[in-house]
Amino acid sequence: MSLFVQKFGGTSVGTVEKIKAVAKKIAGFKEQGHDIVAAVSAMSGETNRLIGMANEIQDTPDPREMDVLVSTGEQVTIALLCMCLKELGLDARSYTGTQVKILTDSAHNKARIQDIDVENMRKDLDAGRVVVVAGFQGVDDDGNITTLGRGGSDTTGVALAAALKADECQIYTDVDGVYTTDPRVVSNASRLERITFEEMLEMASLGSKVLQIRSVEFAGKYNVPLRVLSTFKEGPGTLITLDEEYTKMEQPVVSGIAFNRDEAKISVLGIPDSPGVASKILAPVGAANIEVDVIVQNVAADNTNDLTFTVNRGDAEKTIATLEPVIAQLGAREIVSDSKIVKVSIVGVGMRSHAGVASQMFNVLADEGINIQMITTSEIKISVIIDEKYLELAVRGLHTAFGLDNPEVGE
Ligand code: ASP
Ligand code: MG
Repeated sequence: MSLFVQKFGGTSVGTVEKIKAVAKKIAGFKEQGHDIVAAVSAMSGETNRLIGMANEIQDTPDPREMDVLVSTGEQVTIALLCMCLKELGLDARSYTGTQVKILTDSAHNKARIQDIDVENMRKDLDAGRVVVVAGFQGVDDDGNITTLGRGGSDTTGVALAAALKADECQIYTDVDGVYTTDPRVVSNASRLERITFEEMLEMASLGSKVLQIRSVEFAGKYNVPLRVLSTFKEGPGTLITLDEEYTKMEQPVVSGIAFNRDEAKISVLGIPDSPGVASKILAPVGAANIEVDVIVQNVAADNTNDLTFTVNRGDAEKTIATLEPVIAQLGAREIVSDSKIVKVSIVGVGMRSHAGVASQMFNVLADEGINIQMITTSEIKISVIIDEKYLELAVRGLHTAFGLDNPEVGE
């Protein structure tokens, strides 16, 4: 008998019919003798609907009132799910974040969980009840309702699993696991049996949006085994675990290919080279709250310097506006931007123990005639910036070259 925390996302509880199906699923686990704590999201579209109403009144409503408002979405689903469970003859009890006492800091709209009181949940579990907890919300020291940021129910699920020392945190969603890459780009992408927390963090930060990044960080920190699986389809999903457990098994060099279409490249050209120029350019960018990703600098023969970096596409114009006075002051020749670029990355803990992965990646791109504009690497990731028109070609080529194609699915 195990204790599972099962998180059901908005699409899984999008209608009363679907909530009934979730209750049946839970009942199946109860029949097998498992204890279940369910963490649920608001019905799909509900959080956006609530935010929309607020924005009809004010552009930036008071963050405390926003939390009181958006936390209602989850309160609806916990009650409905408990009713469905009771209809199936199970005993169940719902809790809002405040009722559990999911204690958070007071940073409204992006609060962090500090502590969870497990006493009531334990009593319910001991009495054979299913515990149903509202995702996404908590309460601060002064009793104010807080929320954890969009997609925060994932983090609620993981935090509950950590606090209750559950055997597994299962994230039920509308996809049946984590894939080697986006199946919309590569039709024969394969579902990963396992992936490490580290790899999942890289994949998530590179744009693969299966889980809220914070929930993965949390799961890694507390070593909560995390499984992503489909609410609607049977199957084992993808297990996200620690590196050590994973390395006992035969591991692929590359586990997945991620990409990000949302970057723009900014180049400052002909900067008279002297110590401190990189910081003179990047400091004001940081001060303007613009996140810089890939950075490349090269010095030309005439002792001038070119600095190229990427930012979120939406920040490109703001970056140029911020830098124009700096460029004039430094006596640099010009600043140019290019939004028609993408970042393509290969990710895998197996890279640590394999040489030549980078050159293999560059060979694949060269064979496809794709020019690499920038390169950046970390221990378990290699990213390149290329022209956006080559995105599909690059991802497909790399997917095949690193042996990730699913043999059971035709092209
Ligand atoms: N309902 C919240 C949202 O839409 C939290 C969640 O679903 O995880 O962001
Ligand atoms: Mg979600």
